Amino acid sequence: MDNASFVARDLAVLWHPCTQMQDHEWLPLVPIRRGAGVWLEDFDGRRYLDAISSWWVNLFGHANARISAAVAAQAARLEHVIFGGFSHEPALLLAERLVALTPPTLRRCFLADNGSSAVEVAIKMSYHYWRNVGVAGKSRLINLSGAYHGETLGALGAGDVGLYRDPYAELLRAPITAPSPDAYDRQPGESAADVAARRLADMQALLERHAHEVCAVIVEPLVQCAGGMRMHHPSYLTGLRALCDRYQVHLIADEIAVGFGRTGTLFACEQAGIAPDFLCLSKGLTGGYLPLAAVLTTDAVYDAFYGDYASQRAFLHSHSYSGNPLGCAAALATLGIFADEPVLLRNRALAAAMARETAPLADHPHVAEVRQTGMILAIELTQDKTTRAPYPWQQRRGLRVYQHALAEGVLLRPLGNVVYFMPPYVIDEDEIALLARVAAAGIDAATA
Ligand code: PMP
Repeated sequence: MDNASFVARDLAVLWHPCTQMQDHEWLPLVPIRRGAGVWLEDFDGRRYLDAISSWWVNLFGHANARISAAVAAQAARLEHVIFGGFSHEPALLLAERLVALTPPTLRRCFLADNGSSAVEVAIKMSYHYWRNVGVAGKSRLINLSGAYHGETLGALGAGDVGLYRDPYAELLRAPITAPSPDAYDRQPGESAADVAARRLADMQALLERHAHEVCAVIVEPLVQCAGGMRMHHPSYLTGLRALCDRYQVHLIADEIAVGFGRTGTLFACEQAGIAPDFLCLSKGLTGGYLPLAAVLTTDAVYDAFYGDYASQRAFLHSHSYSGNPLGCAAALATLGIFADEPVLLRNRALAAAMARETAPLADHPHVAEVRQTGMILAIELTQDKTTRAPYPWQQRRGLRVYQHALAEGVLLRPLGNVVYFMPPYVIDEDEIALLARVAAAGIDAATA
């Protein structure tokens, strides 16, 4: 089968995620028949460098030998078993590893099967915790402007990206939204730390007024990814932890996108020296192989649910594929790579190469900013470098970069006006140079 015949059949029956399907009347859908390392290959034999880790999930390359072997071995032994009342070795080993790798106060691991579900687990646990300990009325969330936490109704309700949220507004419970500490919003003369301090004061004012009705504050530590790879100073998280303690609300850290080395440390919260009450993990957890998620929490939370069955305090949340052994085996193999190889050290060199290769773009007349946190590098396009006015979304400038890059054999998928690299950690420096060349040419073409 070639691309054209595949696509005809695909478009006759499939409905793809996050897509206006009509676009595919002129924008080619790309069918992939195999992957190896950072490369994907389509049915016509064309190759694409996966610069976005296939929606930020892939860490160690496509068809990674170690992870593939672990999944195959597990499939031959036990593919799945009900996780209520039953257990299995991959889940046990994974929970032990995650508890050991995360801050010492996070001693319990609850498994779900995708990022949105992990967010919903954390929200439900937080709300239910306050009920179980006899504190009534704490049912609302505080989120940050520009936040993204997933697409199911509860997770969407915790987010603040209008593109995804607005069509469903009537179905969603409104959170209380605090202004993001996004360093892109800095005033002249302000540092990222100054923005963080200013936004902490805003958060404190909201908590002062609303803490009695709030169960948790939810944040994406260090980088708000889907909201445009907007980055903030770690001092915001340190300050936020203190505020959450002071006002008696939980802190939910959604590290679904930023966990597992993306920001330079294994978990982003490490850079602020804090432990959240709930840590949500998914995406890279399985190296990009299988849908799996984990929510790590404290003994205090766990204990609030523990008791006589008749007390009706249990957490009865479940998914059919909770704790799926194949996903756990992929996760164990992924964590095995972190344990056996100097991944974070290698990433430092790769991150430096990304910075070096994109440095000239800072002077581009239509680039407002090149920013980076570890293995995430973002290039913000603007109509006007002095005012930083964004291009109107209707112009779809990012899509032009996507099209240009695809023709050059690179998969970039800009978020509106933000072109970004979030590659698998097995990318090499030549491939980073290619990425930067293609991005620069794509930006020239899209802003000409
Ligand atoms: N939280 C964050 C920070 C995310 O980036 C995402 C996915 N892009 C999610 C939650 C939702 O994860 P999933 O797509 O697996 O539901």
